[in-house]
Amino acid sequence: MSEVEMSVEKHVFEADVARLLHLMVHSVYSDKNIFLRELISNAADACEKLRYEAIVAPELLANDPAPRITLTLDEDKARLIVEDNGIGMSRDELVESLGTIARSGTRAFMERIEAAQGKEGAQLIGQFGVGFYSAFMVADNVDVVSRRAGSDKAWHWASDGKGSYTVSAVELADAPARGTRITLHLMDDAKSYTSRWTVERIVKEQSGHVPVPISIVEKPGEEPAQVADGTALWTKQKSEISKEDYADFYRSVAGQYDEPAATVHFRAEGRHEYTALAFVPGSKPFDLFDPDRKGRMKLYVKRVFITDEAELLPRYLRFVRGLIDTADLPLNVSREMIQESPLLASIRKGLTNRVLTSIEKLAESEPETFAKVWENFGSVIKEGIYEDFERRAQLIALSRFRTTASDENPRALNDYVKDMKDGQTAIYYLTGDNLAQLKASPQLEGFRARGIEVLLLTDPVDSFWVTSAPDFEGKPFKSITQGAADLAGIAKQASDDATSTEASQAVAEFVAFAKATLGDVVSDVRTSERLTESAVCLVAPEHGPDRQLEKMLQGAGRIDGAAKPILEINPGHSLITAIAACPAEDDAFREDAVRLLLDQARVLDGDKPEDPRAFAERLSRVFSRALKS
Ligand code: ADP
Ligand code: MG
Repeated sequence: MSEVEMSVEKHVFEADVARLLHLMVHSVYSDKNIFLRELISNAADACEKLRYEAIVAPELLANDPAPRITLTLDEDKARLIVEDNGIGMSRDELVESLGTIARSGTRAFMERIEAAQGKEGAQLIGQFGVGFYSAFMVADNVDVVSRRAGSDKAWHWASDGKGSYTVSAVELADAPARGTRITLHLMDDAKSYTSRWTVERIVKEQSGHVPVPISIVEKPGEEPAQVADGTALWTKQKSEISKEDYADFYRSVAGQYDEPAATVHFRAEGRHEYTALAFVPGSKPFDLFDPDRKGRMKLYVKRVFITDEAELLPRYLRFVRGLIDTADLPLNVSREMIQESPLLASIRKGLTNRVLTSIEKLAESEPETFAKVWENFGSVIKEGIYEDFERRAQLIALSRFRTTASDENPRALNDYVKDMKDGQTAIYYLTGDNLAQLKASPQLEGFRARGIEVLLLTDPVDSFWVTSAPDFEGKPFKSITQGAADLAGIAKQASDDATSTEASQAVAEFVAFAKATLGDVVSDVRTSERLTESAVCLVAPEHGPDRQLEKMLQGAGRIDGAAKPILEINPGHSLITAIAACPAEDDAFREDAVRLLLDQARVLDGDKPEDPRAFAERLSRVFSRALKS
């Protein structure tokens, strides 16, 4: 053993890695092939990173400028070797990259993977970007030997995936001249990965379009045979690209395993020239709701990968995956230069248009695919209604909503407006946490009675865009839990229980009594047009946030006290007329009744009685009285 091999450092995997590895080894995944895609994707990334660093330091390429990935099969020793001549890893990079998980949200991911089974579990692994560790699905030992471009040291990382790994220096002669060699010691049931036929098929299927050529060496010592040429798919003519080619490429660029719902491929010519290849995914990417709301579109300059941090699309289209390739930027472009470049603005505009148009086309020609896209990404697209003023009208028209008339299949506002009642001037909506609760809201009753459709909005983002004062074809949006209901002018649908909403003298007096009793707990007490079955409900004053938005803002600590709500009373309700008929001397009872009605309205809103103890005492008094009489 040489001197350098003597010092072997032993490291323990970070807890999350150990847990992940345990999952990989002990779960039965039906689709283990993905490990190869993950290793090839890392190798290709390494080649692209080198290509990028070599722009300012061409000497890094030395006498071996062409990137390549080589898969060497060794049936006798049951080994598969994946080697690249990319950037390579230093000792610290090995420890950092192959001993920890840099991503946030690892814990949540692990829980999902534990819950998922079979194929989906394997897919999640790739999606989350813990790809390297998937090698342990097929190998019981993994050796990584790497030499960073420009370094005169090489390092050996080794692990059996059981909690620890070692790192040691190796002789340069035992390492690639540049890049990384990963040797998988295959498990007994994974020996088929030494079969040329199997490996070639998997590579073509999963990685046929990575932008680095891939070769297979069938036996150690034999000549490599190229199985993928590394031609960038996006530079080909559309007519030369099959649907399958697009789908394969989508999977490798997006880290998804499904089919794209929409593909956008075009070349912009004129003042700014670029090629775009972008996909609307068929399912939700893993990081869709990460708080940083970052997109993943990649920027290439003359086929050299530059960054995936340039904001090539607005945030509300962050689910779109793909790339832009342009010759109009210098290769050594800095991040600031990219952000300030007029080209970027032009790309954002052009690409946004094309993506939105392609989604609109889906709505027309493939309603089922569109429905899925909306289900997956609707709540993200709606962010654009208040973020992208210029496209507000377009985005509202594209949006679909569940309504009281159609609570399963979301409807377009176009259809809503066509079905508006005579005398209806606004688009009515109700926001809340879930559909069942919304459908049970007392505030809906008067609208139902008149056959007026109400949008049932359950996404958190709804409360925000809908109050940013948009309209649709001149019709404003109006919360049914806010302000006056304006329903008097719209005819009720024929019904024989035509209870009068006209308040009797007694009810009017009772309302005045309630107002005096509640004082400034509420901002008003009044009779209601919006109730038919329930006795009471709460609404928000005409101006300011509606009830739901107010709760959200309070929850987020964005406002202190809530605005005082208005208590609305159903003048035709038998309970109300009965209480109103109580003799005026019975003040103590009437006060209990008023306060109980207010708490009832709170409960209907999903809240608690303000003072649970006082509530319970009142309820007991009223019960006892009812039992006595
Ligand atoms: P991801 O590719 O999403 O970052 P992986 O688990 O696949 O996650 O890889 C972890 C990291 O290990 C990579 O980000 C990279 O820094 C490093 N790495 C893996 N394979 C290679 C390789 N062949 N060459 C250079 N670096 C690599
Ligand atoms: Mg990877």
